[in-house]
Amino acid sequence: MQQLVFATNNAHKLEEVAAKIGGKIKLLSLADIGCIEDIEETGTTFRENASIKSRFIYDKYHINCFADDSGLEIEALNGQPGVYSAHYAGEHGNHDANIDKTLAALKNITNRKANFRTVISLIWNCDEHFFEGVVNGTIRYERSGTQGFGYDPIFQPDGYDKTFAEMSLAEKNKISHRAIAVAGLLDFLKKV
Ligand code: IMP
Repeated sequence: MQQLVFATNNAHKLEEVAAKIGGKIKLLSLADIGCIEDIEETGTTFRENASIKSRFIYDKYHINCFADDSGLEIEALNGQPGVYSAHYAGEHGNHDANIDKTLAALKNITNRKANFRTVISLIWNCDEHFFEGVVNGTIRYERSGTQGFGYDPIFQPDGYDKTFAEMSLAEKNKISHRAIAVAGLLDFLKKV
């Protein structure tokens, strides 16, 4: 059976892909291959960061591998927070502070357009392939909802009158940036 590493420490992401990948490929976590290094995301684009992670694993462990990088891009803020989404307000993963900073930055701005983006870099038998997912929407003036994580309480996807945080995980997973990118990856893997 072919092996494929998902270069993430996020158990939820791993579980989601593992459930969809099918019997032909065995999905491995970083723990499964004994990788405990913190891979620094020093890129300035999602593509670069995803690539840094997948190449690091492939070069060191010589196993086919993929990595993802995601974030929120706000039009009126020239695409910020972008690759800095996780630590926009300073501390890594402080979602509440990140939302506060976003709402403050958009205080008097009526252009609320934004999108979430995910880029996956897959290294398959030495070649690199990219898969991308985008979901467009708007930034609300206030938080709404308690599901999800990150910027979900202030992001309303186009065509819906609720935020990501007001959706069930199943509903969000049907339309999310990550789900779209993962669908592209799975489609590729079906053909290998
Ligand atoms: P990651 O690259 O998937 O770990 O995402 C980096 C950061 O982008 C997260 O820490 C969140 O702040 C933000 N983000 C990415 N995807 C989502 C999402 O689906 N909802 C809310 N925030 C997200």
